Amino acid sequence: MSDTRGTLAVVGAGVIGLSVAWRAQQAGWAVTVIDSHPSRGASWAAAGMLAPITEAHPSEPGLLRIGLESAAMWPEFAADLNHESGQSCGFREDGTLVIGYDRDDAEYIRRLAEHLREWNLAAEPWTTAQRQVNAPAIAPMVAASLFVPGDHSIDNRSMLGALQAVTDRHDVPILRSRVRSVTPTSVELVGGDSFECDAVAVCAGIDSIGIIPELPVRPVKGQIIRARTGERTGELLTHTIRAHVRGRSVYLVPRRNGEIVIGASVEERGRDTSVTIGPISDLLEDARLIVPGIDECELVETWAGLRPTTPNNMPIVENRDGVVIATGHGRNGFLLSPWTAATVNGLLDEIRPAS
Ligand SMILES: Cc1cc2nc3c(=O)[nH]c(=O)nc-3n(C[C@H](O)[C@H](O)[C@H](O)COP(=O)(O)OP(=O)(O)OC[C@H]3O[C@@H](n4cnc5c(N)ncnc54)[C@H](O)[C@@H]3O)c2cc1C
Repeated sequence: MSDTRGTLAVVGAGVIGLSVAWRAQQAGWAVTVIDSHPSRGASWAAAGMLAPITEAHPSEPGLLRIGLESAAMWPEFAADLNHESGQSCGFREDGTLVIGYDRDDAEYIRRLAEHLREWNLAAEPWTTAQRQVNAPAIAPMVAASLFVPGDHSIDNRSMLGALQAVTDRHDVPILRSRVRSVTPTSVELVGGDSFECDAVAVCAGIDSIGIIPELPVRPVKGQIIRARTGERTGELLTHTIRAHVRGRSVYLVPRRNGEIVIGASVEERGRDTSVTIGPISDLLEDARLIVPGIDECELVETWAGLRPTTPNNMPIVENRDGVVIATGHGRNGFLLSPWTAATVNGLLDEIRPAS
Protein backbone atom coordinates (compact mmCIF):
# COMPACT_ATOMS: atom_id res chain seq x y z
CA MET A 1 0.00 0.00 0.00
CA SER A 2 1.55 3.30 -1.01
CA ASP A 3 -0.31 5.40 1.57
CA THR A 4 0.45 3.07 4.48
CA ARG A 5 1.15 4.56 7.90
CA GLY A 6 3.13 1.47 8.84
CA THR A 7 2.38 -2.13 9.79
CA LEU A 8 0.16 -2.89 12.76
CA ALA A 9 -0.37 -6.28 14.44
CA VAL A 10 -3.69 -6.59 16.28
CA VAL A 11 -3.79 -9.51 18.73
CA GLY A 12 -7.35 -10.81 19.10
CA ALA A 13 -10.33 -10.91 16.74
CA GLY A 14 -13.19 -10.26 19.15
CA VAL A 15 -15.35 -7.15 18.84
CA ILE A 16 -12.54 -4.99 20.20
CA GLY A 17 -9.71 -6.34 18.03
CA LEU A 18 -11.80 -6.31 14.85
CA SER A 19 -13.15 -2.79 15.50
CA VAL A 20 -9.62 -1.57 16.18
CA ALA A 21 -8.30 -3.32 13.05
CA TRP A 22 -11.06 -1.84 10.86
CA ARG A 23 -10.67 1.75 12.04
CA ALA A 24 -6.83 1.52 11.93
CA GLN A 25 -6.98 0.18 8.37
CA GLN A 26 -9.22 3.14 7.47
CA ALA A 27 -6.60 5.45 8.99
CA GLY A 28 -3.97 4.01 6.63
CA TRP A 29 -2.31 1.23 8.66
CA ALA A 30 -1.41 -2.07 6.98
CA VAL A 31 -3.06 -4.36 9.55
CA THR A 32 -2.63 -8.05 10.36
CA VAL A 33 -4.97 -9.61 12.93
CA ILE A 34 -3.78 -12.68 14.87
CA ASP A 35 -6.19 -15.06 16.59
CA SER A 36 -6.32 -18.86 16.74
CA HIS A 37 -10.12 -18.89 17.32
CA PRO A 38 -11.43 -15.63 15.84
CA SER A 39 -14.57 -14.20 17.47
CA ARG A 40 -15.33 -17.13 19.76
CA GLY A 41 -14.51 -15.37 23.05
CA ALA A 42 -16.78 -13.09 25.10
CA SER A 43 -17.97 -11.37 21.96
CA TRP A 44 -19.71 -14.53 20.73
CA ALA A 45 -21.60 -14.81 24.03
CA ALA A 46 -22.80 -11.22 24.41
CA ALA A 47 -26.37 -9.93 24.40
CA GLY A 48 -25.34 -6.77 22.55
CA MET A 49 -27.13 -4.16 24.63
CA LEU A 50 -25.78 -0.67 24.00
CA ALA A 51 -27.00 0.55 27.34
CA PRO A 52 -24.98 3.24 29.10
CA ILE A 53 -28.12 4.65 30.71
CA THR A 54 -29.84 1.59 32.15
CA GLU A 55 -26.40 0.23 33.18
CA ALA A 56 -25.54 3.55 34.90
CA HIS A 57 -24.44 3.33 38.49
CA PRO A 58 -23.82 6.36 40.74
CA SER A 59 -20.39 4.96 41.68
CA GLU A 60 -19.26 4.77 38.02
CA PRO A 61 -19.43 8.30 36.55
CA GLY A 62 -16.36 7.70 34.33
CA LEU A 63 -17.96 4.63 32.77
CA LEU A 64 -21.20 6.55 32.16
CA ARG A 65 -19.25 9.35 30.46
CA ILE A 66 -17.40 7.11 27.98
CA GLY A 67 -20.52 4.95 27.56
CA LEU A 68 -22.56 7.99 26.49
CA GLU A 69 -19.72 9.15 24.25
CA SER A 70 -19.59 5.76 22.56
CA ALA A 71 -23.40 5.49 22.31
CA ALA A 72 -23.41 8.80 20.44
CA MET A 73 -20.88 7.35 17.96
CA TRP A 74 -22.93 4.21 17.32
CA PRO A 75 -25.36 5.36 14.57
CA GLU A 76 -22.52 6.50 12.29
CA PHE A 77 -20.32 3.52 13.23
CA ALA A 78 -23.14 1.09 12.34
CA ALA A 79 -24.04 2.89 9.10
CA ASP A 80 -20.39 2.89 8.04
CA LEU A 81 -20.02 -0.80 8.94
CA ASN A 82 -23.18 -1.75 7.02
CA HIS A 83 -21.97 0.22 4.03
CA GLU A 84 -18.40 -1.13 4.01
CA SER A 85 -19.33 -4.74 4.72
CA GLY A 86 -22.34 -4.85 2.42
CA GLN A 87 -24.33 -6.57 5.18
CA SER A 88 -26.34 -5.54 8.22
CA CYS A 89 -24.54 -5.42 11.56
CA GLY A 90 -27.91 -5.63 13.34
CA PHE A 91 -28.03 -2.21 15.00
CA ARG A 92 -31.48 -1.42 16.45
CA GLU A 93 -32.61 1.91 17.84
CA ASP A 94 -35.77 0.80 19.64
CA GLY A 95 -34.97 1.94 23.18
CA THR A 96 -35.16 -0.11 26.37
CA LEU A 97 -38.08 -0.76 28.68
CA VAL A 98 -37.16 -1.24 32.35
CA ILE A 99 -39.66 -3.29 34.34
CA GLY A 100 -40.11 -3.67 38.10
CA TYR A 101 -41.96 -6.87 38.92
CA ASP A 102 -43.13 -6.35 42.50
CA ARG A 103 -43.36 -3.35 44.86
CA ASP A 104 -39.70 -3.58 45.95
CA ASP A 105 -38.58 -3.83 42.33
CA ALA A 106 -40.77 -0.79 41.56
CA GLU A 107 -38.92 1.12 44.27
CA TYR A 108 -35.63 0.26 42.49
CA ILE A 109 -37.10 1.65 39.24
CA ARG A 110 -38.23 4.81 41.05
CA ARG A 111 -34.66 5.39 42.31
CA LEU A 112 -33.22 4.69 38.86
CA ALA A 113 -35.62 7.27 37.38
CA GLU A 114 -34.46 9.75 40.03
CA HIS A 115 -30.76 9.21 39.15
CA LEU A 116 -31.48 9.56 35.46
CA ARG A 117 -33.31 12.86 36.10
CA GLU A 118 -30.30 14.14 38.10
CA TRP A 119 -28.01 13.26 35.17
CA ASN A 120 -30.42 14.79 32.62
CA LEU A 121 -30.91 11.47 30.84
CA ALA A 122 -34.27 10.87 29.18
CA ALA A 123 -36.55 8.29 30.83
CA GLU A 124 -40.32 8.14 30.72
CA PRO A 125 -42.46 6.24 33.26
CA TRP A 126 -45.11 4.33 31.30
CA THR A 127 -48.62 3.82 32.58
CA THR A 128 -50.15 0.36 32.37
CA ALA A 129 -52.16 1.52 29.35
CA GLN A 130 -49.03 2.76 27.56
CA ARG A 131 -47.26 -0.52 28.30
CA GLN A 132 -50.19 -2.58 27.03
CA VAL A 133 -50.16 -0.69 23.74
CA ASN A 134 -46.37 -0.52 23.24
CA ALA A 135 -45.23 -3.79 24.81
CA PRO A 136 -48.29 -6.08 24.95
CA ALA A 137 -46.20 -9.20 25.66
CA ILE A 138 -45.28 -7.95 29.15
CA ALA A 139 -47.25 -9.64 31.95
CA PRO A 140 -50.21 -7.44 32.96
CA MET A 141 -49.46 -7.43 36.71
CA VAL A 142 -45.92 -5.96 36.73
CA ALA A 143 -45.59 -3.06 39.19
CA ALA A 144 -43.66 -0.42 37.23
CA SER A 145 -42.25 0.42 33.81
CA LEU A 146 -39.80 3.07 32.69
CA PHE A 147 -38.99 3.64 29.02
CA VAL A 148 -35.41 4.72 28.23
CA PRO A 149 -35.30 5.88 24.59
CA GLY A 150 -31.48 6.24 24.41
CA ASP A 151 -30.41 2.63 25.13
CA HIS A 152 -30.26 0.46 22.01
CA SER A 153 -28.87 -2.91 20.85
CA ILE A 154 -26.68 -4.66 18.32
CA ASP A 155 -26.82 -8.27 17.12
CA ASN A 156 -23.38 -9.36 18.39
CA ARG A 157 -22.92 -12.18 15.90
CA SER A 158 -24.10 -10.10 12.90
CA MET A 159 -21.68 -7.41 13.95
CA LEU A 160 -18.77 -9.87 14.18
CA GLY A 161 -19.73 -11.18 10.72
CA ALA A 162 -19.83 -7.64 9.31
CA LEU A 163 -16.45 -6.80 10.84
CA GLN A 164 -14.92 -9.96 9.38
CA ALA A 165 -16.44 -9.13 5.96
CA VAL A 166 -14.85 -5.69 6.15
CA THR A 167 -11.42 -7.11 7.00
CA ASP A 168 -11.77 -9.54 4.05
CA ARG A 169 -12.80 -6.77 1.72
CA HIS A 170 -9.79 -4.65 2.67
CA ASP A 171 -7.35 -7.57 2.57
CA VAL A 172 -6.66 -7.45 6.29
CA PRO A 173 -5.43 -11.00 6.96
CA ILE A 174 -6.52 -12.91 10.06
CA LEU A 175 -3.58 -15.13 10.94
CA ARG A 176 -4.78 -18.29 12.74
CA SER A 177 -2.18 -18.43 15.47
CA ARG A 178 -1.73 -17.79 19.16
CA VAL A 179 0.53 -15.02 20.43
CA ARG A 180 2.94 -15.79 23.25
CA SER A 181 4.52 -12.37 23.80
CA VAL A 182 4.87 -8.92 22.25
CA THR A 183 7.27 -5.99 22.18
CA PRO A 184 6.39 -2.54 20.76
CA THR A 185 7.59 -3.73 17.32
CA SER A 186 7.29 -7.50 17.26
CA VAL A 187 4.99 -10.41 17.98
CA GLU A 188 6.15 -13.86 19.03
CA LEU A 189 3.80 -16.74 18.22
CA VAL A 190 3.34 -19.96 20.15
CA GLY A 191 5.55 -22.38 18.24
CA GLY A 192 8.42 -19.94 17.97
CA ASP A 193 7.72 -17.90 14.81
CA SER A 194 7.81 -14.17 15.17
CA PHE A 195 7.36 -11.13 12.98
CA GLU A 196 8.33 -7.50 13.04
CA CYS A 197 5.88 -4.60 12.70
CA ASP A 198 5.70 -0.88 13.43
CA ALA A 199 3.07 -1.10 16.18
CA VAL A 200 1.20 -3.71 18.23
CA ALA A 201 -2.28 -3.60 19.77
CA VAL A 202 -3.20 -6.28 22.31
CA CYS A 203 -6.99 -6.81 22.22
CA ALA A 204 -7.16 -10.38 23.50
CA GLY A 205 -10.01 -10.00 26.01
CA ILE A 206 -9.45 -11.96 29.20
CA ASP A 207 -6.43 -13.71 27.65
CA SER A 208 -4.58 -10.40 27.40
CA ILE A 209 -3.22 -11.35 30.84
CA GLY A 210 -1.52 -14.36 29.22
CA ILE A 211 0.50 -11.86 27.15
CA ILE A 212 0.87 -9.05 29.72
CA PRO A 213 0.46 -10.72 33.12
CA GLU A 214 0.41 -7.52 35.20
CA LEU A 215 -2.88 -6.28 33.66
CA PRO A 216 -5.55 -6.01 36.41
CA VAL A 217 -8.19 -7.99 34.52
CA ARG A 218 -10.24 -10.93 35.82
CA PRO A 219 -12.88 -13.16 34.21
CA VAL A 220 -16.52 -12.63 35.22
CA LYS A 221 -18.63 -15.46 33.92
CA GLY A 222 -21.97 -14.84 32.19
CA GLN A 223 -24.45 -17.53 31.19
CA ILE A 224 -26.99 -16.65 28.52
CA ILE A 225 -29.85 -18.21 26.54
CA ARG A 226 -31.03 -17.84 22.95
CA ALA A 227 -34.69 -18.52 22.16
CA ARG A 228 -36.58 -18.24 18.88
CA THR A 229 -40.03 -16.79 18.33
CA GLY A 230 -42.21 -18.38 15.66
CA GLU A 231 -45.70 -18.56 14.23
CA ARG A 232 -47.21 -19.41 17.61
CA THR A 233 -45.63 -16.50 19.47
CA GLY A 234 -45.49 -13.74 16.86
CA GLU A 235 -42.71 -11.17 17.28
CA LEU A 236 -43.31 -10.81 21.07
CA LEU A 237 -40.89 -7.92 21.70
CA THR A 238 -39.87 -4.78 19.83
CA HIS A 239 -37.83 -3.19 22.65
CA THR A 240 -35.06 -4.54 24.85
CA ILE A 241 -36.55 -5.41 28.23
CA ARG A 242 -34.52 -5.09 31.45
CA ALA A 243 -36.47 -6.48 34.34
CA HIS A 244 -35.97 -6.50 38.10
CA VAL A 245 -37.70 -9.52 39.52
CA ARG A 246 -37.77 -9.97 43.29
CA GLY A 247 -34.31 -8.41 43.58
CA ARG A 248 -32.77 -10.33 40.67
CA SER A 249 -32.31 -9.03 37.19
CA VAL A 250 -32.91 -10.46 33.75
CA TYR A 251 -32.96 -8.94 30.28
CA LEU A 252 -34.55 -9.96 26.98
CA VAL A 253 -33.06 -8.57 23.78
CA PRO A 254 -35.00 -9.12 20.53
CA ARG A 255 -33.15 -9.72 17.26
CA ARG A 256 -34.33 -9.01 13.71
CA ASN A 257 -33.95 -12.74 12.89
CA GLY A 258 -36.70 -13.63 15.40
CA GLU A 259 -34.40 -14.66 18.23
CA ILE A 260 -34.60 -13.32 21.77
CA VAL A 261 -31.46 -13.31 23.89
CA ILE A 262 -32.13 -13.84 27.60
CA GLY A 263 -29.34 -13.05 30.05
CA ALA A 264 -27.23 -13.11 31.94
CA SER A 265 -25.69 -14.48 35.11
CA VAL A 266 -22.80 -12.65 36.81
CA GLU A 267 -20.46 -15.17 38.44
CA GLU A 268 -16.96 -15.03 39.91
CA ARG A 269 -15.77 -18.52 38.96
CA GLY A 270 -12.39 -17.99 37.41
CA ARG A 271 -12.09 -19.38 33.91
CA ASP A 272 -14.97 -21.83 34.15
CA THR A 273 -17.27 -21.64 31.10
CA SER A 274 -19.56 -24.58 31.86
CA VAL A 275 -23.30 -24.02 31.44
CA THR A 276 -25.07 -24.93 34.68
CA ILE A 277 -28.70 -25.58 35.53
CA GLY A 278 -29.11 -23.14 38.46
CA PRO A 279 -28.34 -19.83 36.72
CA ILE A 280 -30.07 -20.89 33.50
CA SER A 281 -33.27 -21.87 35.31
CA ASP A 282 -33.23 -18.61 37.36
CA LEU A 283 -33.01 -16.61 34.14
CA LEU A 284 -35.82 -18.60 32.52
CA GLU A 285 -38.03 -18.38 35.61
CA ASP A 286 -37.67 -14.59 35.80
CA ALA A 287 -38.03 -14.09 32.04
CA ARG A 288 -41.24 -16.17 32.02
CA LEU A 289 -42.74 -14.04 34.80
CA ILE A 290 -42.14 -10.88 32.77
CA VAL A 291 -42.89 -12.21 29.25
CA PRO A 292 -45.12 -15.30 29.62
CA GLY A 293 -45.19 -15.77 25.83
CA ILE A 294 -41.60 -17.02 25.81
CA ASP A 295 -43.00 -20.38 26.96
CA GLU A 296 -43.85 -20.99 23.32
CA CYS A 297 -40.41 -20.03 22.01
CA GLU A 298 -37.97 -22.65 20.79
CA LEU A 299 -34.92 -22.97 23.06
CA VAL A 300 -32.02 -22.55 20.64
CA GLU A 301 -28.88 -22.35 22.74
CA THR A 302 -27.35 -21.91 26.15
CA TRP A 303 -23.86 -20.47 26.34
CA ALA A 304 -21.33 -18.98 28.72
CA GLY A 305 -18.60 -16.40 28.25
CA LEU A 306 -16.00 -14.55 30.32
CA ARG A 307 -16.26 -10.77 30.62
CA PRO A 308 -12.75 -9.27 30.87
CA THR A 309 -13.31 -7.13 33.95
CA THR A 310 -11.20 -4.54 35.81
CA PRO A 311 -11.48 -3.57 39.49
CA ASN A 312 -13.26 -0.25 38.70
CA ASN A 313 -15.11 -1.57 35.61
CA MET A 314 -13.32 0.96 33.37
CA PRO A 315 -11.66 -0.51 30.26
CA ILE A 316 -7.89 -0.36 29.88
CA VAL A 317 -7.17 1.49 26.65
CA GLU A 318 -3.66 2.85 26.83
CA ASN A 319 -0.11 2.90 25.54
CA ARG A 320 1.84 0.73 27.96
CA ASP A 321 5.58 0.96 27.34
CA GLY A 322 5.04 1.33 23.59
CA VAL A 323 2.41 -1.43 23.23
CA VAL A 324 -1.22 -0.39 22.78
CA ILE A 325 -3.63 -2.27 25.07
CA ALA A 326 -7.41 -2.42 24.67
CA THR A 327 -9.03 -4.81 27.12
CA GLY A 328 -11.05 -4.93 30.34
CA HIS A 329 -14.34 -3.90 28.72
CA GLY A 330 -16.31 -6.01 31.19
CA ARG A 331 -20.04 -5.92 30.51
CA ASN A 332 -19.74 -3.14 27.89
CA GLY A 333 -17.43 -4.28 25.09
CA PHE A 334 -20.02 -3.81 22.33
CA LEU A 335 -21.20 -0.47 23.66
CA LEU A 336 -17.60 0.76 23.91
CA SER A 337 -16.26 -0.58 20.59
CA PRO A 338 -16.60 2.71 18.57
CA TRP A 339 -15.02 4.71 21.40
CA THR A 340 -12.23 2.16 21.86
CA ALA A 341 -11.36 2.01 18.15
CA ALA A 342 -11.21 5.83 18.00
CA THR A 343 -9.12 6.03 21.18
CA VAL A 344 -6.70 3.39 19.89
CA ASN A 345 -6.31 5.34 16.63
CA GLY A 346 -5.32 8.35 18.75
CA LEU A 347 -2.73 6.24 20.62
CA LEU A 348 -1.36 4.89 17.33
CA ASP A 349 -0.99 8.48 16.09
CA GLU A 350 1.22 9.18 19.10
CA ILE A 351 3.37 6.11 18.40
CA ARG A 352 3.78 6.89 14.71
CA PRO A 353 2.35 10.25 13.65
CA ALA A 354 0.83 10.55 10.18
CA SER A 355 3.33 12.24 7.89
C1 LIG B 1 -22.99 -13.27 28.82
C2 LIG B 1 -22.40 -11.98 28.37
C3 LIG B 1 -23.25 -10.94 28.01
C4 LIG B 1 -22.72 -9.72 27.59
N1 LIG B 1 -23.58 -8.74 27.18
C5 LIG B 1 -23.08 -7.55 26.73
C6 LIG B 1 -23.94 -6.53 26.27
O1 LIG B 1 -25.15 -6.69 26.29
N2 LIG B 1 -23.39 -5.38 25.82
C7 LIG B 1 -22.03 -5.17 25.77
O2 LIG B 1 -21.59 -4.09 25.35
N3 LIG B 1 -21.18 -6.13 26.20
C8 LIG B 1 -21.68 -7.29 26.69
N4 LIG B 1 -20.83 -8.28 27.15
C9 LIG B 1 -19.41 -7.97 27.24
C10 LIG B 1 -18.70 -8.15 25.91
O3 LIG B 1 -19.04 -9.38 25.35
C11 LIG B 1 -17.18 -8.06 26.13
O4 LIG B 1 -16.85 -6.88 26.82
C12 LIG B 1 -16.48 -8.04 24.77
O5 LIG B 1 -16.91 -9.12 23.98
C13 LIG B 1 -14.97 -8.11 24.95
O6 LIG B 1 -14.44 -8.17 23.66
P1 LIG B 1 -12.94 -8.51 23.39
O7 LIG B 1 -12.73 -8.41 21.94
O8 LIG B 1 -12.08 -7.70 24.32
O9 LIG B 1 -12.76 -10.00 23.94
P2 LIG B 1 -13.12 -11.39 23.24
O10 LIG B 1 -14.41 -11.34 22.52
O11 LIG B 1 -12.99 -12.43 24.32
O12 LIG B 1 -12.02 -11.58 22.15
C14 LIG B 1 -10.69 -11.83 22.46
C15 LIG B 1 -10.09 -12.61 21.31
O13 LIG B 1 -8.69 -12.72 21.55
C16 LIG B 1 -8.26 -14.00 21.16
N5 LIG B 1 -7.04 -14.31 21.90
C17 LIG B 1 -6.90 -14.51 23.22
N6 LIG B 1 -5.62 -14.77 23.54
C18 LIG B 1 -4.93 -14.73 22.38
C19 LIG B 1 -3.55 -14.94 22.06
N7 LIG B 1 -2.65 -15.21 23.00
N8 LIG B 1 -3.18 -14.86 20.75
C20 LIG B 1 -4.10 -14.56 19.78
N9 LIG B 1 -5.40 -14.35 20.06
C21 LIG B 1 -5.81 -14.44 21.33
C22 LIG B 1 -9.42 -14.91 21.51
O14 LIG B 1 -9.39 -16.11 20.74
C23 LIG B 1 -10.62 -14.03 21.19
O15 LIG B 1 -11.11 -14.24 19.88
C24 LIG B 1 -21.32 -9.52 27.56
C25 LIG B 1 -20.47 -10.57 27.90
C26 LIG B 1 -21.00 -11.79 28.30
C27 LIG B 1 -20.07 -12.91 28.65
